[in-house]
Amino acid sequence: MPNLLLRSLSHTASACIFLLLSACSEAPAQSLATAANTPGESHTNLPATIIPAASEQLSFADWRALLRSDAIAAGIEPELFDRAFAGVSPNPEVLAADSSQPEFTRPVWEYLDGAVSPARIARGRSLLAQQRDNLTRIERRYGVDGEILVAIWGLESNFGSNIGNHNVIRSLATLAYQGRRQVFWRSQLLAVLQILQHGDITPERLIGSWAGAMGQTQFMPTTYNQHAVDFDGDGRRDLWNSSTDALASAAHYLQASGWQQGQPWGFEVLLPGDFDYSLADPENRRSLAEWTRLGVKPVNTSMSMASASPATLLLPAGHRGPAFVLLSNFRSILKYNNSTSYALAIGLLADGLRGGAGVHGSWPRSDRQLGRSERIELQTLLAQNGLEPGPADGIIGANTRKAVRAFQQRRGQPADGYPSYELLEQLRNY
Ligand code: CA
Repeated sequence: MPNLLLRSLSHTASACIFLLLSACSEAPAQSLATAANTPGESHTNLPATIIPAASEQLSFADWRALLRSDAIAAGIEPELFDRAFAGVSPNPEVLAADSSQPEFTRPVWEYLDGAVSPARIARGRSLLAQQRDNLTRIERRYGVDGEILVAIWGLESNFGSNIGNHNVIRSLATLAYQGRRQVFWRSQLLAVLQILQHGDITPERLIGSWAGAMGQTQFMPTTYNQHAVDFDGDGRRDLWNSSTDALASAAHYLQASGWQQGQPWGFEVLLPGDFDYSLADPENRRSLAEWTRLGVKPVNTSMSMASASPATLLLPAGHRGPAFVLLSNFRSILKYNNSTSYALAIGLLADGLRGGAGVHGSWPRSDRQLGRSERIELQTLLAQNGLEPGPADGIIGANTRKAVRAFQQRRGQPADGYPSYELLEQLRNY
């Protein structure tokens, strides 16, 4: 993905309104002998030779030797392991990126300006036309429409033009040896060795993002092993060089994530003046018919509002910004990349490729965004007022939003859960 240094390694959707670019795609459990896919989770099947606490005391060479025997025990050929690790040493830049906690992140509207730019829509439309036959075959096979796939292609690698230039073995070895979530990174490293052994790519051509996301759709190795497909029929799953394989693999992944063919991701809506904004919570699912009874009106959709489809309401910039109703396909996009802003960008870009007019509501562009230290201060002040925002980590998750809402309700304000600068000021003087 572009803007890698801004990517946080948070894995909660709720955190990502502020952490605009969250971590790479994650796959469900893998079939690896040592699979441990959940970040930071300990795993009982992990060989005893490498445990995160001990690995820091090992030299890199000793650590690599232990990894080598585990990889061979898991079926990796010794010659392949040695070829992949030839000349590999830890990369300090990767460690710095892994521990980076930027003070400022872009507001959602600035992120969307870049992600869904007129130039990207124009390029995407031209590629959509070029790839029409492939996309039709892919949709027939996996039930995912071409506009969504081209949108993912556009955001992940600028349509294949930015696939990263890090040596993936070096990045993953660095993170597995010294990073913050060594068990997770080690499972990615073993998965990438399996990709090499499968013959999809040679070690010399194995490049990706600093965090090991690979190819035109930026799949993490475990995701790759589970969902990448050879759709152009040359015998290799090649997400680096084959756009056809990349687009089909993204479709296969979305299908496995519950994609509903023919359903939109969601759409923009207008809310009545007296709307109860506390209903805009990812845990509050209601049918479209119920939202309609509450006065929610689509700006423009062909979908029947009498539908029983479960939907949630999203206010990415609080009650003064645009509102969106989200359907289950939005949650499928979140499985690809667990960031609300990312999923919204994919949906809006796909709409733009279909000729949609863009967002109707206006963003509160003059709003001052809270920096990381201000978000921590906000959480500390909410906790001091007995509102239980969760740990003061600067991540605006579900608990912090609930606490913000409770404070807004106390003050008789629209309870949208949005942590504005004005709200922080009120808390400081409370
Ligand atoms: Ca292929």
